Amino acid sequence: MTATVVNGLEVIADEPTEAPMRSRAGTPVLWQQTRTLLLEDGSTTYGCVHCDYTSANVRSIRPHLNKHRTDNVPARTSVLAPFGELSLAEVFRRLVDFDDVTSELDEMTSERDEWKQRAQRAERSLSTLRNALRGVAS
Ligand SMILES: [Zn+2]
Repeated sequence: MTATVVNGLEVIADEPTEAPMRSRAGTPVLWQQTRTLLLEDGSTTYGCVHCDYTSANVRSIRPHLNKHRTDNVPARTSVLAPFGELSLAEVFRRLVDFDDVTSELDEMTSERDEWKQRAQRAERSLSTLRNALRGVAS
C-alpha cells in the first residue's frame, strides 16, 4: 500500500508519475507503479505503489520496484516444486498429450486385433483351399 503519511505530512494526492522520456508517438509516458505524492504542505515526493516506500528522488523508486518482483519468485517456485522445472501449463499440456497417446495406442491395438483375425481367417481359407486341392489331386 502506498504511503499515506510522509515525514508526518499527509499525502493529499497520489498520481502516476510522468516519466522523463516520451513514447515514440510523443505522448507522455506514465509510470503507474511510481506514484507522485502531493503532501499537505504543497511539496511532492515519490512513492512505491506496492508499499509505503517513499523517496524525494524519483530515480530511486524504479530500482526499488525490483524488490517486489523478486519477492514473487520464491512463492511461484514453491508452488511448482512437485513438478520440477515444469510450469503448470506445461504439466497440463503433457497430461493431454499422454491422453492422446493412450487413445492412439487403443486404436492401434484394435487395428492389430482386426488384422490378426483377418490373417487367421485367411489362413483357414488357405488350408481349406489346400485340402480342396489335395482332394482334386488324389
Ligand atoms: Zn515498494
